[in-house]
Amino acid sequence: MRNSFFDTPIEYLKGVGPVKGELLKKELGIHTFHNLLYHFPYRYADRTRLYKISEINEEMPLVLVKGKIITVTSHGDKRTTRLTAQFRDETGSLDLVWFQGIKWMRDVLKAGEEYIAFGKPTRYGNRINIVHPEIEKAEEGSESVSTYLKPFYHTTEKCKAKGVDSNALARMTRMLIEKFQTENIPETLPDYLLQQHQLYGLKTSLINIHFPKDNEALQAARKRLKFEELFYLQLSILSLKTSRKEQVAGIRFEKVGALFNRFYHECLPFELTHAQKKVLKEIRSDTASGKQMNRLLQGDVGSGKTIVALMSMLLAIDNGCQACLMAPTEILAMQHCETIKSLTTSLPVTVELLTGNTKTAHRKQILSALADGSLHLLIGTHALIEDTVQFQNLGLAIIDEQHRFGVEQRARLWINEPQKPHVLVMTATPIPRTLAMTLYGDLDVSVINELPPGRKPVATYHYREEKRLALIGFLKRQVKEGRQVYVVYPLIEESEKMDYANLVQGYENLGRDFPEPEYRVSIVHGRQKADLRQQEMKLFAEGKTHIMVATTVIEVGVNVPNASVMVIESAERFGLSQLHQLRGRVGRGAEQSYCILMTGNKLSADALERIKAMTQTNDGFIIADADMRLRGPGDLMGTQQSGTLNFKIADLITDQSLLELARNASASVLANDPHLQLPQHTVLHTVLQLKKQKKGVWEKVS
Ligand code: ADP
Ligand code: MG
Repeated sequence: MRNSFFDTPIEYLKGVGPVKGELLKKELGIHTFHNLLYHFPYRYADRTRLYKISEINEEMPLVLVKGKIITVTSHGDKRTTRLTAQFRDETGSLDLVWFQGIKWMRDVLKAGEEYIAFGKPTRYGNRINIVHPEIEKAEEGSESVSTYLKPFYHTTEKCKAKGVDSNALARMTRMLIEKFQTENIPETLPDYLLQQHQLYGLKTSLINIHFPKDNEALQAARKRLKFEELFYLQLSILSLKTSRKEQVAGIRFEKVGALFNRFYHECLPFELTHAQKKVLKEIRSDTASGKQMNRLLQGDVGSGKTIVALMSMLLAIDNGCQACLMAPTEILAMQHCETIKSLTTSLPVTVELLTGNTKTAHRKQILSALADGSLHLLIGTHALIEDTVQFQNLGLAIIDEQHRFGVEQRARLWINEPQKPHVLVMTATPIPRTLAMTLYGDLDVSVINELPPGRKPVATYHYREEKRLALIGFLKRQVKEGRQVYVVYPLIEESEKMDYANLVQGYENLGRDFPEPEYRVSIVHGRQKADLRQQEMKLFAEGKTHIMVATTVIEVGVNVPNASVMVIESAERFGLSQLHQLRGRVGRGAEQSYCILMTGNKLSADALERIKAMTQTNDGFIIADADMRLRGPGDLMGTQQSGTLNFKIADLITDQSLLELARNASASVLANDPHLQLPQHTVLHTVLQLKKQKKGVWEKVS
């Protein structure tokens, strides 16, 4: 909130000045009083309890003790290298030890006087030591010791070198808080919300987040600040949704036309599941509404999202529009293109593929057909959203498997189109609820919660190296029964050379175990030329090769229903959602399918946890939650999300229920007052505007 106190430049704080001010700005991004107040401690040391020396052991974190210094002894030959003070209370004694600042300490410490020491106990021989304790004189005659939670602040090496360490930041903050006490600090949440959710006021919260009087006050302060952060995020996401619904006109798809109907009656190779029908109805009603559709389609791997995408695109074409489908990898784009072409051969629909590897001449043709409207359907990778790609009349844009596209990324996608197309985002890996609310909180959600009939859950096993022989035998039996097999190797950039060698080695070994001409083994990886890769994929898809050795290029989307075994080599090196995606490549036909996770013998606790999750469940939602617990939400979604997921204090893993609370609170605010015009909501309107100015891009999201 705009406020002259908050906006005061940091160098005006007593004890800061221009030099330290510059340092704080550069190193910590602290420009104003406001910034310093919102530079929250990352942890607190408990100085609320005074320990007796006899209670202390080396396992304990920081402890606070009160006692008398008995002796002060210097050690070292010519030069003192260590100073030890024997420190005693009525229950025992320990040693306070200094290796630095010895001269100073020797002058300060007085034998026979009472002190309060605070530090980390360690054991040295048979004595407890506290090395470099914080130490202060005990107040004379006073039995009580001032106890508190001591804040620790993040800082940088450069800052520390110039004396701006955690303690210095604490001193500055304390100084600021003292000034702050008498300031009139505007509240950023309406009173009724504070009361309804029993939240601290802003001022009390800011005081107690830095210098809590006790743990209870600290928790209350944290709750309020977290709530505020989550509340405003949700409020901005939901008000975006509201205003978009009101303002962004959508292209109205008037009818279900000939293409859609012909496809449904003549081309559809199976009966749609109830879930697929339900989703198509939702899409139909969105696109007929005259408002822009912004919908998320969630459905676990293999649930049949592609056909829904295709039929939605036919709906667009029926209504005189073009449509596009964007996939995250070239292989997937290629496969979508083939699937869609083969499903629509009898229909008057033009389909093209555009990727980074499309040859220039062909690319030119595609672009001109796009511009004159003769091309109906464009499938591709990120190449679709380059500036040169201009549709004549884009009516529907579908993003497949792009669970990594948050609110802000999507904002940039269709910015060039004069008329906002309908947008359908499809995601396979179910994402934890908290993330969904944050990344996709502005979208309406459709769920395919049903797999096509006849699917059997994939049986997943964990094998170690000694079972390789058994594995080969098993694969031979599967191939004999007419099934096909994937063998996937990790290929991760840092160690690419070695990974590549492993892949080739694995391919050669398999060639020995599965000799030609009885068996055919293909290999697919990112270093191959695109057409060679395409050819190998095709051979496998047509059942002409038995085993496909590959890297994670086949991770998403690839669809070969006859493949029944997925072997994942060095499975410990894959993330959970990757493993789940890979497993989703099998179990697509009617046959029992298997996923074999091969690992070395030594596994980290996290790796074991991932393998366990995989062997215990096929449920994508359970997998997604476990994944977020293990990796944290930021890592889970990739660095692109850092803007959206960069919370100051809230945490998507531990604060799930608070997020739900904030979501519901902001939803009910907007339900009563969609434009935040009521007097009690003036504050919300103001803060939201300020946040928008900072983010900028939010308003443009479509
Ligand atoms: P995903 O949701 O993972 O993208 P796909 O769209 O690739 O799944 O579909 C997986 C497989 O299921 C494909 O082989 C597809 O042809 C088949 N499929 C989709 N819908 C049905 C259905 N209703 N009945 C039978 N098979 C279906
Ligand atoms: Mg798919």
